[in-house]
Amino acid sequence: MPVTTLDPAPTLALEGGSANREPLIGLSRAALAERLRTLGVPERQIRMRLSQLWSWLYVRGLTDFAGMTDIASALRTELAERFTLARPEIVTEQVSVDGTRKWLLRLSDGKEVETVYIPEADRGTLCISSQVGCTLTCSFCYTGTQHLVRNLTASEIVGQIMLARDRLGDWPGAVADDPRGIPDAERKITNVVLMGMGEPLYNFDNVRDSCLVAADGEGLSISKRRITMSTSGVVPEIPRWGEEAGTMLAISLHAVRDELRNQLVPINKKWPIRELLDACRAYPGLSNAKRITFEYVMLKGVNDSVADAKALVRLLAKIPAKINLIPFNPWPGAPYECSDWEQIEKFAEIVNRAGYASPVRSPRGRDIMAACGQLKSASIKQRASERLAS
Ligand code: SAH
Ligand code: SF4
Repeated sequence: MPVTTLDPAPTLALEGGSANREPLIGLSRAALAERLRTLGVPERQIRMRLSQLWSWLYVRGLTDFAGMTDIASALRTELAERFTLARPEIVTEQVSVDGTRKWLLRLSDGKEVETVYIPEADRGTLCISSQVGCTLTCSFCYTGTQHLVRNLTASEIVGQIMLARDRLGDWPGAVADDPRGIPDAERKITNVVLMGMGEPLYNFDNVRDSCLVAADGEGLSISKRRITMSTSGVVPEIPRWGEEAGTMLAISLHAVRDELRNQLVPINKKWPIRELLDACRAYPGLSNAKRITFEYVMLKGVNDSVADAKALVRLLAKIPAKINLIPFNPWPGAPYECSDWEQIEKFAEIVNRAGYASPVRSPRGRDIMAACGQLKSASIKQRASERLAS
């Protein structure tokens, strides 16, 4: 497995460290304008300066203020003294045989998260994390076994996109240091999914703010239709997410009966399937052009019967939906096995016949543990293996 360990001191650390400087990445336009005011930029210049800065940050991907040639040098110096454009630090970068790329990133307090890039023929999807670990304990998910949990800041969430674009050479005129598996497309990242570590709706404000920055048409320009937020089912926050963020929605359903879903996705005990689907039916903007994705992990002998498949299509009838069947991705000590391919095909056929297209999500990056539900910080894995060894 190819593991590239990068220089632990990235370019920005050379500028004198970012410990006391506030990150600008991830701030809303309004917050950024406020920062410019505090630096004494006159009111009549705020709009212009804001749009210059925004463009340097999010269209050009600059990592230092010195290159912002249309901004007065005194202002550039002040910006550099007070603020940082640092990305999360890369601990490792792994490239799978199928081109999937996984970064283990270290945040300013030493905590770690993972980000995954999945290139396909017609798109490039970045799977980002919203929390360090996850407070929920879905029984088939590796992230849920990690106890160390905190919310990511908006800066750390948008920072994952910035870092990925840096490494993929996805800025105008940029070239990737390591081009393995990177498609020859004008834009390397066309889609973003909040399907990494964490429950996005438990970090609502920061995740919303970062989606708004990512979707800004004069910046990163990843439209809301190309951003998907996946939730295990935090029902009361779903309508607010639709109103305030308005991205595409994915629901981790995984079972058609409450009794089983209670075991697989324990948050179901609080908000059962019926309430979850009611919230889905009421999701703002829902239509055949804007469908909800229902994720369904295939667990051998647990939720993969023909009866389950039939119940699934009955349950989702009348909801504009896509169904994503995810082969279970194993992890060390997991209490489940992936369904047999024959069974997955049988299940898929029933789902297909009910009118849902291309339902099986092929596992990507399994050789580097980058597939769904396999994410967990490497240092924690290492500590666990040290414990086993002692
Ligand atoms: N917490 C959110 C988003 C992150 S998980 C959520 O649960 O929706 C992203 C997707 O991966 C979810 O559908 C999750 O159920 C699924 N998943 C988790 N562990 C998995 C595993 N081991 N194999 C396959 N899919 C898994
Ligand atoms: Fe958390 Fe999602 Fe994993 Fe459940 S599946 S433990 S909600 S990351």
